[in-house]
Amino acid sequence: MSRNRCARCLRPQTHCLCPLIPSLDSRTRVLLLQHPCEVSHALNTARLAALGLNNAELIVGEVFEDLPTLLNPPGYQARLLFPADDAQPMQAYAATDKPLLLVVPDGTWRKARKMLHLNPLLAALPRVTLADGGVSRYRLRKAPGPGALSTVEAIVQALQVLEAPTSFEPLLRPFEALIEGQIAAMGEETYQKNHGR
Ligand SMILES: [Zn+2]
Repeated sequence: MSRNRCARCLRPQTHCLCPLIPSLDSRTRVLLLQHPCEVSHALNTARLAALGLNNAELIVGEVFEDLPTLLNPPGYQARLLFPADDAQPMQAYAATDKPLLLVVPDGTWRKARKMLHLNPLLAALPRVTLADGGVSRYRLRKAPGPGALSTVEAIVQALQVLEAPTSFEPLLRPFEALIEGQIAAMGEETYQKNHGR
């Protein structure tokens, strides 16, 4: 089976999301470390985030050899978006002199934990978390990654805290189209059966 895919967003060309993907500037730099299992998933929201932000990079792997360089771009302080008892709330960095390099593991809980285990430099980074109460629009996959939010939603929330009052909502447009498309393809009946209350 080989359907023609858009080389940029990796969607079938008939469902290319590129026209909806913005090109946003941010003071924060975002580094997405994506587990290989996520690459071919239909809901690859980390890729949407990386494409929509000019100051973002997505790297696929499980062990990252270049971490000493990746985690130390001049002028940034690296923080890992991942829960921990001593994680600081994102708000603590809302008005820092030195912008954040926000490092975001993308994978299921299990895969993300494994990535930290395999990359001690990653595990050693100071951690930041989002405030509770974020409501996901992600209705299709249960526990898609760290926290209850999809990766692109988590990044939007983080940036909105760090760079208020700038809005990063446009990053969600292709994501929302993707979800609507998935639900339509699945059939509303199946959707209600699997995900309705
Ligand atoms: Zn595309």
